[in-house]
Amino acid sequence: MTAVETLQFIAQETKGCTLCGLHAGRTKAVPGEGPPDAKIMLIGEGPGYHEDRQGRPFVGPSGQFLDELLAMAGLQRSEVFIGNVVKCRPPQNRDPQPDEVATCTEHYLFRQIEAINPTVIVTLGRFSMTLFMPREKISRIHGQPRIVDGRLIVPMLHPAAALHQPQNRPLIEADFLRLPEILANAEHEAASKAAAPAPQQDDGPPLEQLSLF
Ligand code: URA
Repeated sequence: MTAVETLQFIAQETKGCTLCGLHAGRTKAVPGEGPPDAKIMLIGEGPGYHEDRQGRPFVGPSGQFLDELLAMAGLQRSEVFIGNVVKCRPPQNRDPQPDEVATCTEHYLFRQIEAINPTVIVTLGRFSMTLFMPREKISRIHGQPRIVDGRLIVPMLHPAAALHQPQNRPLIEADFLRLPEILANAEHEAASKAAAPAPQQDDGPPLEQLSLF
């Protein structure tokens, strides 16, 4: 299957999904949207009221702010893939429960990541960051790119955190402003790796190249 087909198939699956209790309260599942070859994939927490009504990610107040943040970074929504940890709205916007997160990510989000194979994954908020960096605190590591299982992850605050606590606004804006540089560095790194001669058998294990970050 091509990436387009895989993403369409996953989107169809989420619409009929009954694998966890969240399905009972949903109006529409929110599989996520964006180009199948997006270089940047943003992962939020889960649909809120507006997303549940429309079946699209980040279309409420957090989404408006996310669009502003993307614009500040010189990016348009149409060029990034936007998804969520869970695809159905938790009741009253409560935190998604560990079993809901495990089921939804295993069945949908991780397959979406494989299909898109983005250069950079931006996690928005604690739940998304925890998928990749379970022991970290977002307040400590936001904005710092890190390679996890071969993928470049940039943890950022959730846009709603800046809407609810204005003191967070400069932090999230500064992190988004660095995104183009982080992407450019990652692409440069990948191009150098591709151009480098294959290592000799007795060269030992390859070192992770983090020099540009
Ligand atoms: N918050 C999220 O985490 N995801 C959305 O899609 C909307 C708001």
